[in-house]
Amino acid sequence: MSDINLKAAASPVRERRLGSITGYAGTARDLVQNVRKGCLKEKSRSFSQCLGCSTSNAACTLILIQDAAVISHGPVGCAGCLHEFAFTYRVNGIHRNVDKPAQRRIFSTGINEKDTIYGGAQKLANAIREVHRRVKPNAIFVITTCASGIIGDDVQGISDEAEEEIGIPVVAVFCEGFRSKIWTSGFDAGYHGVARKLIKKPQKKQEDLVNIINFWGTDVFGEWFKRLGLRANYLTPYATVAQIGSSSEAAVTVQACATLGSYLGAALEQEFGVPEIRESAPYGIAQTERWFRELGQITHREEAVELFLREEREKWLPEIEALREKLKGKTAYVTAGASHGHSLLGLLQELGMKPQGAAIFHHDPLYDHGAENGDTLQHVVNDYDDVPNYCVCNKQEFELANVLNRVRPDILFARHGGMTLWGAKYGIPSLLIGDEHFGMGYEGIVKYGHRILETIENDEFVKNLEKHAINPYTDWWLKQDPYTYLENGANVKPY
Ligand code: SF4
Repeated sequence: MSDINLKAAASPVRERRLGSITGYAGTARDLVQNVRKGCLKEKSRSFSQCLGCSTSNAACTLILIQDAAVISHGPVGCAGCLHEFAFTYRVNGIHRNVDKPAQRRIFSTGINEKDTIYGGAQKLANAIREVHRRVKPNAIFVITTCASGIIGDDVQGISDEAEEEIGIPVVAVFCEGFRSKIWTSGFDAGYHGVARKLIKKPQKKQEDLVNIINFWGTDVFGEWFKRLGLRANYLTPYATVAQIGSSSEAAVTVQACATLGSYLGAALEQEFGVPEIRESAPYGIAQTERWFRELGQITHREEAVELFLREEREKWLPEIEALREKLKGKTAYVTAGASHGHSLLGLLQELGMKPQGAAIFHHDPLYDHGAENGDTLQHVVNDYDDVPNYCVCNKQEFELANVLNRVRPDILFARHGGMTLWGAKYGIPSLLIGDEHFGMGYEGIVKYGHRILETIENDEFVKNLEKHAINPYTDWWLKQDPYTYLENGANVKPY
């Protein structure tokens, strides 16, 4: 278990805290076994095309808080990717019962060349005051960037002084892009700030309250929990600063994706005494049942959970069987973030499909709670089957374009915008579902199954696109081993 230290200004990056890696190619089972044997090793790439930035992931945990504001302290370009969260907030608000989604409050100090020589401290202090005056938020987050990190602005000191002056939490979040090759370190940075400055010591315990650390998914948990006499407290999207403050009063914390919530779940447990469910999120039948049983045990609702599972099985199993018949033997390739990507690999096998491989953006040997039963990839290989051609890569689209050209699956599952493009260019039906709750539970298997069928059956657009698309990669690259630039090559089956 990693020790969470909320007295420190910044959270340690995942490479150091969890031993996470971004370079591997082999099979999923080998990867899991390497972790268990304690011999997981990062393979570096001698050529790297692109990777994400931690500021964006930190912002993902902060921008959707209803009554907070976020200031990116850096050049305006570093805030360029933050607008997508404003869009997400608006379109998904309705699914989370937010009637009138307020405009997002995203700002940049826009530091320039001169500031990088003379310092951007005054600009930041002025920006905090101005944001407070203009939008009256209940908390302000200051997210750092490479430029502010390199010039060494005292973001912590300025934020603390501003907090004294304006009387609301002003939270410095250290997430410069260069801090970590694993951009999900940005989630941890955002949650570190939330846990340090927003979550308060509990006044009283609320035995029916369940924290759910998630992205922005639909209110699936709320419906389930009503049947179990529980209430859902989503963290942090669409929550208010006050709601986050009292999350320490919850009976338990669960996560939609362990990659996302690992740090905050552990912080809530270690610093505020809220136990965290270790089991991986409820995708696929076996995992759904394990997850609900652990929830029942912690909240003392074992009987209610058994009844719930019985009802769900009776309702959905016949339809799951019918879908399995239709999807039996269809092939799929998955490209996604770690834990959610594992869940997709489980879901497609639950439906009788065959994974041909996966490009997963990083790998955490274990999450912050340190429990082996939280290893989402282990569940997939144990509950279903091994996944061949399993690659860990921080995007590296040149590898994906090469692999897809060889395997040509019946469908590509992607979790990040921009990745489906590669499937479509090759005429492969491609599916991106932004709602991370969509495939959860028994009903989720059914919903996913229908969506997969629709996608595979409606392939006319991608088939046409393939005829006209120009592939920027030439045969020179497409005929080489996709892992040519990975240290010691790869240990994968020939395609
Ligand atoms: S990597 Fe650095 S320079 Fe690039 S967007 Fe992120 S913080 Fe800005």
